[in-house]
Amino acid sequence: MNEYDSELVRSLLISGGFVLTSDRVRADVILMNTCAIRENAHTKVYTHLSDLRALKRQRPLVVGVLGCMAQNLKEELTNKEPLVDVLAGPDSYRQLPKLIAEAIEAQEQGLRLKGSAVDLSEYETYDDVIPQRRDGVNAWIAVMRGCDNFCSFCVVPYTRGRERSREPEGILAEARLVVAQGFKQITLLGQNVNSYRSGDWDFARLLVAVADVPGIERVRFTSPHPKDFPPALVDAVSSHPKVCKHIHLPAQSGNDRILGLMNRTYSREAYLELVDRIRAVNQDIVLTTDIIAGFCSETDAEFADTYRLLAEVRYHAAFIFKYSERKHTIAARKFADDVPEAVKSERVTALVDLQREISRERNRAYIGSILPVLVEGDAKRSSQQGMGKTDGNITVVWAKACVPGHPGEILNLSIYDSSASTLYATASY
Ligand code: SAM
Ligand code: SF4
Repeated sequence: MNEYDSELVRSLLISGGFVLTSDRVRADVILMNTCAIRENAHTKVYTHLSDLRALKRQRPLVVGVLGCMAQNLKEELTNKEPLVDVLAGPDSYRQLPKLIAEAIEAQEQGLRLKGSAVDLSEYETYDDVIPQRRDGVNAWIAVMRGCDNFCSFCVVPYTRGRERSREPEGILAEARLVVAQGFKQITLLGQNVNSYRSGDWDFARLLVAVADVPGIERVRFTSPHPKDFPPALVDAVSSHPKVCKHIHLPAQSGNDRILGLMNRTYSREAYLELVDRIRAVNQDIVLTTDIIAGFCSETDAEFADTYRLLAEVRYHAAFIFKYSERKHTIAARKFADDVPEAVKSERVTALVDLQREISRERNRAYIGSILPVLVEGDAKRSSQQGMGKTDGNITVVWAKACVPGHPGEILNLSIYDSSASTLYATASY
């Protein structure tokens, strides 16, 4: 979502007469789009800010902090970091060109002006802003913004405000545009993407309509909430040839008392029924999840329920996080963050180790099969290797000397080896 928001900001700044550079040494203005979801995201921003201090001492420079951290900390951030001139929350990006221009003008007169725009809106969807996208095979399209779920650990409702959906016409026009621009894959985005609703359009209908846009190869979506999974949505994932066979299904915990404290609105049993329902419709759908370990008052026995959930569902992959208390949230106000750091770390390690073994076994099962792979570019480790994704979002790597492939192409590759995170492929003959 932040990458998408940065694309919106780039577009708004270009319309405001600014020119973009990725070279920080040449920039007159440096903006950082930030996340507030966990403490380590905050820490990273402070590190980047201190890197800019020397630059700002040498010459006039406007520094801006955008996004959730700006929204969450507001003036506390500008007071703590005298370096910061501009703050803009996720619903205030339209004000950026004006705020930046005022900060530049003040600097030219030898003054410092701190500008901030951190009001949340019930309506802002940036529907009329065409994001300035980076080249690649995937185009993000936000279909809704904000979240009304108020999971007790989560800062999103406070930083991104109330849930609001875009009109389907605008989303479909954007989908047709990105296809015409050459993007092969669309990822529909929302904090709670499957609660999308506009008139009599629900998320399943929208997903199918986007996947029906002529020329699109693959459609993905993230992040759905387990509470909004009607049969029509499972059917759309299972049967539409352009909708990827992958569902990210954040569980957060496998214990009912903790799920209740988290305000997730489902029980372990209801979650497992949904997993069974998805797999009964199509057992090839790849399932992944998010887990939080060490939430307030989580006992060893309650943690063991989460461990058993992973062992029982056998996800293809899981993102496992240590609970991190966030300012303003219900948990921060009502519950003590009382699981010791060392215990949180032990729990994360236990889950990561278990999941690595499961992912390894799951990936091993693909050896010998031929899979369609959307080429994304070079592998991280070597420009001699190509990298792409299966329909189920599993990373595939191959030697370019053997299969050249170019970004955007779908190759049928033969899987000959695997690890916990990667499938290794060669040409299929
Ligand atoms: N909307 C999605 C859902 O309902 O599951 C999740 C989106 S959230 C931005 C991404 C993930 O960050 C969550 O699934 C959760 O696992 C993790 N997360 C959120 N708040 C957290 C916190 N306070 N501490 C640790 N992890 C957190
Ligand atoms: Fe946060 Fe997701 Fe819960 Fe919304 S549904 S409050 S984004 S975890």
